[in-house]
Amino acid sequence: MAAQPPLRLDSSMPLRIALVGIGKIARDQHIPALAADPRFELVACASRNATVDGVRNFPDLETLLAQVPGLDCISICTPPQAHFEAALAALRAGKHVMLEKPPAATTRQISLLADEAAARGRTLFQTWHSRFAAGVDATRDWLRARQLVRGRIVWKEDVHFWHPGQRWIWEPGGFGVFDPGINALSILTDILPSEVNVERAVLEFPANQQAPIAAQLQLRTVDGVNIQADFDFRQKGEQSWDIELETTSGPLKLSRGGAGLEIEGRTIMLDEGLAGEYPRLYARFAALCGAGSSEVDWRPFQLVADAFLVGERRTVAAHQI
Ligand code: NAP
Repeated sequence: MAAQPPLRLDSSMPLRIALVGIGKIARDQHIPALAADPRFELVACASRNATVDGVRNFPDLETLLAQVPGLDCISICTPPQAHFEAALAALRAGKHVMLEKPPAATTRQISLLADEAAARGRTLFQTWHSRFAAGVDATRDWLRARQLVRGRIVWKEDVHFWHPGQRWIWEPGGFGVFDPGINALSILTDILPSEVNVERAVLEFPANQQAPIAAQLQLRTVDGVNIQADFDFRQKGEQSWDIELETTSGPLKLSRGGAGLEIEGRTIMLDEGLAGEYPRLYARFAALCGAGSSEVDWRPFQLVADAFLVGERRTVAAHQI
């Protein structure tokens, strides 16, 4: 397939963008980040049930693509089960695509999307928002010059608070506790100087659901360093999104999903979390569109898929959504 011609000749104009799947993350982060970024103009949304004030609204992406002229990019904020179809349609229509995490429902789907973007000369930005947390770059730099001894991830949150009424998360392809857990794995694969894989896993499935409510992973780097990960959706009280790393030159702790950083017990950084990540994501998307390149890294997704492949399955108490 021949690559398509560039979308625009005048790069000083904002990129005309549409959002697909108007739910919690679209309203909490994508819309405010786009409103504050002069590099983008939000012109339309596609959502089966929701609408956004001040833009054209459509019940599905197909109609939006047919009726909105001059659109440059599509940002997909639906749950992962709906990513592949939407991203494929957008790329085939010649648009640049930004994808929320987790990237798709299967690993093959994201690989096919990467091929499609490359063949059409369009940008595919397969995002990991947690990699844009304030402490991540400093952690990667710090680790590069040190020797890791062991690591521990504790990612525990209250699903009723953070995912109120979200049925899709419990359905096949919805990831369950790996929906937040994959954020930790996206940071880990970004900061470690060596590659990591899943040795063992235990997955806890509520008796009445199709996705795990908790998981424990034994990860190991190719250099033989063990990293324990503990994901749990049943956390009440204080929530934990922490990665603790012990090195031969002292400990490092990334907290608050990567927004807080402590080195040898000293606070280095304490940022605002998710709200700081999305403006950085859109800045990167604009740069990728301008450069005509893609960013796709499905290693965190492979780790989750591998946990499902090798994981011991346990049935636990039923969970009411
Ligand atoms: P959400 O509140 O359920 O919103 C997603 C929206 O997508 C729905 O409201 C729905 O709107 C639309 N949709 C399209 N196809 C769907 C399907 N098959 N099943 C369910 N909804 C469908 O979910 P969210 O929290 O925004 O999460 C969406 C994605 O963002 C997930 O991949 C999640 O991991 C990621 N994310 C979420 C957060 C967060 O804090 N919530 C943070 C970072 C990333 P219509 O019914 O109008 O079509």
